[in-house]
Amino acid sequence: MTIPVQEADYGFKTANDMLEWLAVFGGNEGGGVTRLLYSDTWLEAQHALKGLMQAKGLDVRFDEVGNLFGRRVGVEEPESVILTGSHIDTVINGGKFDGAYGIAASLLAVERLYEQYGPPKRTIDVVSLAEEEGSRFPLTFWGSGWITGLYDLDQAEHIYDQDGISLKDAMEKASFGATSMPSQLKKPKAFVEVHIEQGPILERKKKSIGIVSHIVGQRRYTVQFKGESNHAGTTPMTMRKDAMRLMAEWISFISDEAEAMDSSLVATVGKVSVRPNTSNVIAGETECSLDVRHYNTAVLNQFEEKIKAFEERARHLGMTIIMQRWMNVEPVALDQTMAKSAAEGAGQLGLSYETLVSGAGHDSQVFGNCCPTMLLFVPSRNGISHSPEEWTEPEDLEKGVVLLMKELYKLAYE
Ligand SMILES: [Zn+2]
Repeated sequence: MTIPVQEADYGFKTANDMLEWLAVFGGNEGGGVTRLLYSDTWLEAQHALKGLMQAKGLDVRFDEVGNLFGRRVGVEEPESVILTGSHIDTVINGGKFDGAYGIAASLLAVERLYEQYGPPKRTIDVVSLAEEEGSRFPLTFWGSGWITGLYDLDQAEHIYDQDGISLKDAMEKASFGATSMPSQLKKPKAFVEVHIEQGPILERKKKSIGIVSHIVGQRRYTVQFKGESNHAGTTPMTMRKDAMRLMAEWISFISDEAEAMDSSLVATVGKVSVRPNTSNVIAGETECSLDVRHYNTAVLNQFEEKIKAFEERARHLGMTIIMQRWMNVEPVALDQTMAKSAAEGAGQLGLSYETLVSGAGHDSQVFGNCCPTMLLFVPSRNGISHSPEEWTEPEDLEKGVVLLMKELYKLAYE
């Protein structure tokens, strides 16, 4: 397969310029970007980045799943690898900053360090991870999960996209899979990621940098409410088993409990369905989703216990609630020493910063279970992401690059 690579002089001096260039691959009308794992636009973008890495003098390789590495070999401890980067895939009609910024920032930081100080003591790998978003296949972190051993290739046979194409087939069509070159990467000494915040805190507090202490754990549930369908006109209010009313009461209950329990706890009902879903019939059965996030497992457990108490209320009304948990991702604490170093670095550079918990998932949570990991944020305008509206001011992008450079210097040059 020949990969058309857009001509570029590769002389990008800013992250913003690099992101504008990269956004052409998978760019939609209206300014959005769609790069789903192993799609043509994804493949073009990965190969364009490969060309850029080569032009910057990095040793370039793909691993089995299509993670792309650009390596600057260390002169004293080449076996110690500092890994830095983020992901290339997007959601459908996403923005040009999510994921891509971390790759652009890493390339610029590594280039500037080399120009200023020459080759590092330890090896630096800039990585463009294959997949993080879970937009095409029903799994997330395929790229970082492959590197850290969370996933293996056998799993790719049994995961399908909505067109019935398996992850394995899609991977092989893109010329990756077991037949391609092995990754050569041992456990990294550290992982460093910069990313847009995807939330409003930095902008509201007028801070330039977010230093992430934890990435939240996430639990998702499907909740069913079972009552009795009946005539909307002839059934008195006191004689109803109205599943809609029960669900409404339950949503109100869990929202109040979450708000009261802990200021960092969030609980969201974003999806509901009703049967029979007719205006003149009392709903006999309803169903909703529940998404709960916090950085402490104990709080997640406590909340789960607390909301189970509502089952008694349903029984009292002659109805039932069935709550099924189908996702449980544990919270991850990132490396405290690295976070402290980033705070000092920001202070020395005169950059205002805030220590944050990330409410969204990131590749850093996968690496955080495997090696010391640092995750830094830059502000998102209006807190918006996963949208063509996604935006970070060029000067904020630059501040992230400057801090990343300082931290990579400590890790790879000192
Ligand atoms: Zn991302």
